[in-house]
Amino acid sequence: MSSNNILETPIEFLKGVGPQRAQLLKTELQISNFETLLQHFPFRYVDRSKFYTISEVNDTLAYIQIKGHIIKTEVVGEKRTKRLVATLKDQTGSIELVWFQGMKWISELVKAGEQYVVFGKPADFKGKFSFNHPEIELYEQYIQMGTEGLHGIYSSTERLKNYGLDSKGILKLMRQLLSQLQGELPEFLPLSLIEQNNFVPRETAWKDIHIPANTNDLKAAEFRLKFEELFIIQMRLLKLKTKRNLSYKGMVFGKVGNYFNTFYNDYLPYELTGAQKRVVKEIRADMGSGKQMNRLLQGDVGSGKTVVSLICMLISLDNSYQSCLMAPTEILANQHFTTITELLKDMPIKVGLLTGSTGKKQRAILFETLLNGELHILIGTHALIEDNVQFQNLGFVVIDEQHRFGVEQRSKLWNKSQQYVPHVLVMTATPIPRTLAMTVYGDLDISIIDELPPGRKPILTVHRFDDKRLDVYEFIRSQIELGRQAYIVYPLIEESEKLDYKNLEEGYDMVLYQFPIPRYQISIVHGRMKAKTKDWEMQRFVNGTTQIMVATTVIEVGVNVPNASIMLIESVERFGLSQLHQLRGRVGRGAAQSYCILMSSHKLSREARLRLDTMVRTNDGFEIAEVDLKLRGPGNIEGTQQSGLMDLKLTNIAQDQEIIELARHAAQYFIEKDVNLALPEHADLLLFLRQNSKSKSNWSRIS
Ligand code: ADP
Ligand code: MG
Repeated sequence: MSSNNILETPIEFLKGVGPQRAQLLKTELQISNFETLLQHFPFRYVDRSKFYTISEVNDTLAYIQIKGHIIKTEVVGEKRTKRLVATLKDQTGSIELVWFQGMKWISELVKAGEQYVVFGKPADFKGKFSFNHPEIELYEQYIQMGTEGLHGIYSSTERLKNYGLDSKGILKLMRQLLSQLQGELPEFLPLSLIEQNNFVPRETAWKDIHIPANTNDLKAAEFRLKFEELFIIQMRLLKLKTKRNLSYKGMVFGKVGNYFNTFYNDYLPYELTGAQKRVVKEIRADMGSGKQMNRLLQGDVGSGKTVVSLICMLISLDNSYQSCLMAPTEILANQHFTTITELLKDMPIKVGLLTGSTGKKQRAILFETLLNGELHILIGTHALIEDNVQFQNLGFVVIDEQHRFGVEQRSKLWNKSQQYVPHVLVMTATPIPRTLAMTVYGDLDISIIDELPPGRKPILTVHRFDDKRLDVYEFIRSQIELGRQAYIVYPLIEESEKLDYKNLEEGYDMVLYQFPIPRYQISIVHGRMKAKTKDWEMQRFVNGTTQIMVATTVIEVGVNVPNASIMLIESVERFGLSQLHQLRGRVGRGAAQSYCILMSSHKLSREARLRLDTMVRTNDGFEIAEVDLKLRGPGNIEGTQQSGLMDLKLTNIAQDQEIIELARHAAQYFIEKDVNLALPEHADLLLFLRQNSKSKSNWSRIS
């Protein structure tokens, strides 16, 4: 958020902090200046606007407050049961307050005859209600401090608590800060926006997010501050997009020629689905528009993204430009190479493959033909972004399974073409909800393939507990009898490679025992294998030599073996939802009915249960993505790290979808109307965005 000068004031300059506490705040909570303290939001609020009477107290209540007079205090019990008991009385009865620690301090604080406010969670002790270790303060002080109303609870740490910075201590600092910031949090949103949305003033919002008088004020503050947070991100993303459109001339792929037509009419082995046709059209329109295309293609696993990208490569070729396709793994790059060369058959198109295993000689030939234009399409891994890979005229870049590549790598590919930035198509099989896409990929246009090729039978998914293992193996044997193949997948545990390996090895032994050689042949693939061995094992499965593939999640993305009809996932409780969905997508690619069997122990957390139920209930990647987002939050969704989304402090991407849309539309409006924010009514907004560190480089160019 804002970083005008006063907010950058080091935290030790806040009254009541001092050097020692400042150091602690830095190391314990990363609070280093006024701004970071201001952004230390309460993690929940308790309602201190209501007082309960003592007769209403029971142990089903959460944190509540009562008020009354202390009538006596005494120390009772011996040694470990030694405790201070104070009796509080109101007009409806009396109740005991109990402290086992800090007795000396409490007994000085609590005086018989005075009126106090007590805040805590009631407990039931031998049929009698009491409060253990409640917060207590003089009623008079309570009124003075304004503790009444909603009350924020702040996270703190043991060390901070030792220095008086528990939740209450932090609240005290916050009050101090807010009073010092009076008049220092100027409005920057355009008036029209404030009026349309009834936003509370900025300063009010910051005060109310910390010290709301009631729930309505809190809601209004949250609404405004969440909007602000999202609006800034959207302005940044849309500005980037617009700037790119203005400054990069796109190559105009005006014509559709022989390569495209011949392939489409004579070689394409099936009819494109309606969704594939629509997406090809969208891409064609972009490529011919004179703007440089930056498009995200989302399509569930098996929806046929590869052929769409190939068709677009042919359009590029029809306009005399080369294309390249970058895949995240060697297995995938090989597979794309095979698929594409098979689809192109005897068409006069030269396709090359470049991966880490490409030999020196082969490399030299590739580099030469790339540069002299003989090579039309280059497929490969990260190797494509090496400096010595130089194209004659790269016109179109396809990036498969984008979440494995950073933005930086993307732009490295762009820089390969001298005069122009090529058109870029990013493909992902990890569907993400629309609102998240708006934020994560807000600078890209989005196409969606929301239809599977015809004839696919939905995959049947079941959940089995470990003790049904023998039945499951029996079922797999019966499928193998029918000529099918099966994957058996074990979890990969990053923190403990050893454990992962042990699981896989034990599993492998078990599978060997259950599916004895020579009747059955088994492939095994895991992350610690040499690439060559991995490929060999993979190849044996692809060509049908082996019937079973035992693997870790290395086979998660992209692998295509249409004859495989069973996906057995072991210790399924250890997998995330999107990972499970990706794995399941490895089957159901052929004509046969496919099955996904999720095996777990009987010990399942509530969340694991929900993941399992979701997988069994639906095959729809978008629905699964929504559940995943709600369960895990955006931080765990791939691609979010580089989007600014991780800076979100207030917004909950899963819950605040309406505000996201609102912010997106508002940003669109301002960018369209006044891209440089040159109008006088946008001056404050411009100033704010410039001061905002995140967007410094972006907005400072405007002037
Ligand atoms: P993904 O979108 O997961 O990358 P692929 O491109 O690997 O999917 O396609 C999955 C399978 O579907 C491939 O075997 C491909 O040949 C096939 N396929 C793609 N489009 C069609 C279509 N329109 N009709 C029939 N099969 C198709
Ligand atoms: Mg794919």
